[in-house]
Amino acid sequence: MIRFDYARPADVSEAVRAGSGEHAAFLAGGTNLVDLMKENVARPLQVVDINRLPLTDIEAREDGGLRLGALVTNAATAYDPRVQQRYPLLASAILAGASPQLRNAATNGGNLNQRTRCYYFYDVDTPCNKRNPGEGCGAIGGVNRIHAILGASDQCIATHPSDMCVALAALEAHVQVTGPDGDRAIAFSDYHRLPGDEPWRDNTLRSGELVTAIDLPAENFSTHYTYLKLRDRLSYAFALVSVAVTLRLSEDGRIEVARIALGGVAHKPWRVPAAESLLQGEQPGERVFQAAAHAITEGAVGQGQNSFKIELARRAVVRALGQAAAGTPQSQTDKRIA
Ligand SMILES: Cc1cc2nc3c(=O)[nH]c(=O)nc-3n(C[C@H](O)[C@H](O)[C@H](O)COP(=O)(O)OP(=O)(O)OC[C@H]3O[C@@H](n4cnc5c(N)ncnc54)[C@H](O)[C@@H]3O)c2cc1C
Ligand code: SF4
Repeated sequence: MIRFDYARPADVSEAVRAGSGEHAAFLAGGTNLVDLMKENVARPLQVVDINRLPLTDIEAREDGGLRLGALVTNAATAYDPRVQQRYPLLASAILAGASPQLRNAATNGGNLNQRTRCYYFYDVDTPCNKRNPGEGCGAIGGVNRIHAILGASDQCIATHPSDMCVALAALEAHVQVTGPDGDRAIAFSDYHRLPGDEPWRDNTLRSGELVTAIDLPAENFSTHYTYLKLRDRLSYAFALVSVAVTLRLSEDGRIEVARIALGGVAHKPWRVPAAESLLQGEQPGERVFQAAAHAITEGAVGQGQNSFKIELARRAVVRALGQAAAGTPQSQTDKRIA
């Protein structure tokens, strides 16, 4: 039994104060943190239960967007009528993840901050630089079917496991945080980071900072979008590769704006602006889709067992672009799909 202190603050500033210690962790739905504590992977000395904080609303924003409270559950977010109608890409991505029971407990803030599913990270008897800096990486040269093909380093090849975050990257959301130095907004593309030589840092949150909300911009791409998730089972499995696509088409059918975010391939949702600009001004079609698919995976490197992901990602991008352009997105919003 590892002892820890437990606090359940009622306001945000108290939570930030309690969460500012080096060995503190915020507890939201607990679907990831509690597992990590049980497995002895996370050993916080101070657990700050944030479930009493007033971060449980979804609110309209003055600029026409939507603000999602950090403690709104993934299920409540995905089934909110405003999210379903205006941000179906996000609803679709959330419902492609985990299971109904988990989504009822998991929160938006927790989803952003969930840790990698790398097997070695969870197995304290194997080396892992993310868990114990300087220890080595068990996945390099090990079992690495689920690992990164893009943006990895020689210290860590883990991927970020979230589905929701892939959609948020394509929608260009902002993450609202508050901490010991006040409030700030982080562009979604700057929120998660690549492992580099500090693989233990998943994101750019500073010590003691708490995610309070996620802001969705007014442009929602509700007619031309797709979230396509490829995995070993149809339900209750993390993505091997996933793709979020949003398109804005002109009256004559040309692509005005294209965004493509890949999941399951890197330490953060993967976007390449140069790949997206190849589509701008073009009529949708196989030739330009193939060009974008190759550009977004440029520099991809396999580790052996995961090398299949390179071709899989390219094919997934082409398929997702085709679906989004046709306005027939792969939808996970059907409630019968678990
Ligand atoms: C079996 C299983 C299958 C899953 N499958 C999928 C899947 O297919 N796709 C997918 O996307 N996810 C999947 N998940 C992951 C699940 O979505 C996450 O566990 C969940 O979103 C985490 O949210 P939580 O509120 O429970 O976070 P917690 O477990 O409470 O916290 C997770 C981390 O976030 C930090 N944190 C929480 N809230 C905040 C905040 N407001 N500010 C700063 N830090 C915070 C915590 O300190 C902790 O480090 C799966 C999980 C399980 C157990
Ligand atoms: S890939 Fe990253 S998380 Fe996995 S063992 Fe290597 S260092 Fe650890």
